[in-house]
Amino acid sequence: MTFPAQDSTIFTRRRFLGWSQAALATLGAVPFLSSRSDALSPISESASPEDYYAKLGVEKIINAAGTYTYLTAAVMPPQVQRAVAEAALHPVVLKDLQIASGDYIAKRLRCEGALVSCGASAALTLATAACIANANGVPANLIPESVGGMKNEVIVQKAHRYEYDHAMLLCGVRIVEVTTLDDYRRAFSPRTIMTNFFNSAEGGEIDRQIWLEVAHKHNVPCHMDAAADMPPIENLWKYTSMGYDLVCFSGGKGIRGPQNAGLLLGKKHFIDLAMESNNPNSDAVGRGMKVAKEQIVGMVAAVDWLLEQNDEADQAEYRRRADVIVREVKTIPTMKTEIFVPAVANHVPHLMLAYDPQVVGITPKQVQERLRAQRPRIELNPATGSSGRFGSHSNENTIVVGTWMLQPGEAEIVGRQLRAVLSPP
Ligand SMILES: *Cc1c(COP(=O)(O)O)cnc(C)c1O
Repeated sequence: MTFPAQDSTIFTRRRFLGWSQAALATLGAVPFLSSRSDALSPISESASPEDYYAKLGVEKIINAAGTYTYLTAAVMPPQVQRAVAEAALHPVVLKDLQIASGDYIAKRLRCEGALVSCGASAALTLATAACIANANGVPANLIPESVGGMKNEVIVQKAHRYEYDHAMLLCGVRIVEVTTLDDYRRAFSPRTIMTNFFNSAEGGEIDRQIWLEVAHKHNVPCHMDAAADMPPIENLWKYTSMGYDLVCFSGGKGIRGPQNAGLLLGKKHFIDLAMESNNPNSDAVGRGMKVAKEQIVGMVAAVDWLLEQNDEADQAEYRRRADVIVREVKTIPTMKTEIFVPAVANHVPHLMLAYDPQVVGITPKQVQERLRAQRPRIELNPATGSSGRFGSHSNENTIVVGTWMLQPGEAEIVGRQLRAVLSPP
């Protein structure tokens, strides 16, 4: 492993090598110990796996941001890494694995049916395809080409329009926007196939309960996008228990499965229809959204792992990490610290460090850039130095630290580096 010459003064290189190799060792070493495969036999038990990040010159980062896709979201726990590595050793029939994993996850998450998709976005596409098939009684291979001439309307609140609308639109549907409850009631037509509820949307006049009731009065299925809305763990069955026909979660965010996995949970009838549009069927909109055996098994293992966790203990640990950082920076002039827990998505303690940049001599955006330029590179939450993402809790004078994706020992590093950057020379 090589580091650029400006290797950080504070961070010890040995420590970094220590934890990164320990993490990689769990992934690489175990299958060689347990495998009897001839193909693998030349590899000795003690061979340490090649560090491809180093080989490619891609830097490892300290994730003080959160489960952001652009930062590769979460790191899988060792138990999940082992399941992925073990699955890689043997071929299976993909369809069998899809069905069995879905049945298993449905049981564990208390819903009728489940499907491992390649992410929440793909789950939304498959959900849309299922609702088209449900409303029109047509086979999956007509999606999207013939959808223009079918029942094809999806009702969405204006405040719930988002970038993931693409996931529905690629099935050829048309989105019908509503604002008031009256709009919503009037929007149902014989062409309506589904509604989509973006669970963590801010604004939107119609709450999730009323949204569901009105749709079901019209016999229209509801999909909920709850991609980033775990923790709490119980959300994994809360929304399907409410009666949402389909609910998607990202597998690689708080659930800490593989980043290219997700869950579509819901009623068996709709999950079965979603499967029709899924790979390995090649004549289907979901053909390009393949989840490999490793990721399917990883998703199952992540669900098992998650159901052994405890929300209170996790939140306490995230707060402890925030306290570690606060201890380092609290003597910076004008510094005010706050812990903020967003209501729905990313429902974990975030550390807000607000100060007067005039007095301290550096803005939060400049701090963010400095930590990026250091080795190891630290990524702060993207809300740093801007308003909007965390309501009134952050603005141009706030550094935002997400502590939940930090690995052991990293809160100390983030705290020390922040203090160094915020201290006068
Ligand atoms: C992250 C996210 C998605 C996409 O999740 P993937 O698993 O990366 O596909 C969709 N919707 C919302 C609201 C998200 O936050």
